[in-house]
Amino acid sequence: MDKFKHIDTWVFDLDNTLYDAETGVFVKVGAQMTNFVADLLKVSPEEANIIRKEYWKKYGTTLRGLMLEHKIEPYRFLEHAHDFDISDVPQCAVTQEYLQHLVGKKIIFTNAPREFAERMTKHLGIRDHFDHIFAIEDANFIPKPDLIPYRAVIEKFDFDPRRACMFEDMEINLKTAADLGMTTVWFHGQHQDPHEHDHPHVHHKAEKLSDWLRHTIRKK
Ligand SMILES: [Mg+2]
Repeated sequence: MDKFKHIDTWVFDLDNTLYDAETGVFVKVGAQMTNFVADLLKVSPEEANIIRKEYWKKYGTTLRGLMLEHKIEPYRFLEHAHDFDISDVPQCAVTQEYLQHLVGKKIIFTNAPREFAERMTKHLGIRDHFDHIFAIEDANFIPKPDLIPYRAVIEKFDFDPRRACMFEDMEINLKTAADLGMTTVWFHGQHQDPHEHDHPHVHHKAEKLSDWLRHTIRKK
């Protein structure tokens, strides 16, 4: 815990961070996005996937691409993308119990919409641990890793990034955080080789949040 002694603000990504990638939730979001694009542009799911990949590369998210190139109404897209049952996503007893031992402000900072972040954290039994949620609509639909939403979250919740720690499964999103002075923890999951991503902006690594919590809090 020594390396985190100075931290008074804990910033968490949602997808594949507060729940495991193994749950397949993110795959469902992707499938919903693909069929939205296929319907909208009257193309096959295969073509829709190619378009989504292009948007990812060019704009950071499918949503941003659709907003800029097709002027879609963002809430309609976000609602469709997250319109599925999450009741089979397993809760994590370690996360439920250990989060309270991180002393300080806890914030969820996600490229997902607020409704989904609320629903998911309630389902996981961890909603009460968090003081604030900063969702994609709070960021004017500009996703991480763009600097704009990081600046907005810091300003809105008034914390010093040098005393903040950010948790993410996408290491690229930690680059901006580290540039701003935050301490970073990257969750590589089961299928990524942690040594392939030895970037200076990744300060600490663990397979998943429950591992990090167990390991770090025990050493307090
Ligand atoms: Mg994520």
